[in-house]
Amino acid sequence: MSCIFCDIVAGEGDASVVATGPRTVAFLDLFPFAPGHALVIPREHAVGLSDLPDPDAAEIMQVGRRVAVAAREAGFAEAVNLFLADGQIAGQTVFHTHLHVIPRRAGDGFPAGFGASPQAPHDELDAVAERLAAAMPTS
Ligand code: AMP
Ligand code: ZN
Repeated sequence: MSCIFCDIVAGEGDASVVATGPRTVAFLDLFPFAPGHALVIPREHAVGLSDLPDPDAAEIMQVGRRVAVAAREAGFAEAVNLFLADGQIAGQTVFHTHLHVIPRRAGDGFPAGFGASPQAPHDELDAVAERLAAAMPTS
């Protein structure tokens, strides 16, 4: 099965690489929201969070943090959003998991924030937390 991000890892894609790690590659998004918009991906193909090994997840976050700091340092960002779409309904369009590092500026129109959700009752939160804890993978 062909995968455009696996091609980039293999050096066959036309990517502008900004950082590499033993388990990850970070490169610029081809259709950037803003200059410096980068993607961090695992070298090993994983569709999403369910099949992503913990060490890859850890390095993705580590490299994402560094790229975010660089985006501010290099003058591309006043602030940064990290964003990962896990699944089609969440907006995922490339099915090799990737963390977006999105440089932000005042008034840039990026839809950040969760709107005005009402406060949830604590007993409901406790019940949801219990279900999540019971379903939590150990690795
Ligand atoms: P998502 O919609 O979260 O799955 O993000 C996929 C991202 O990959 C989009 O922001 C695309 O602009 C970007 N993209 C698609 N093809 C390429 C490519 N060949 N090189 C770099 N970025 C790409
Ligand atoms: Zn892939």
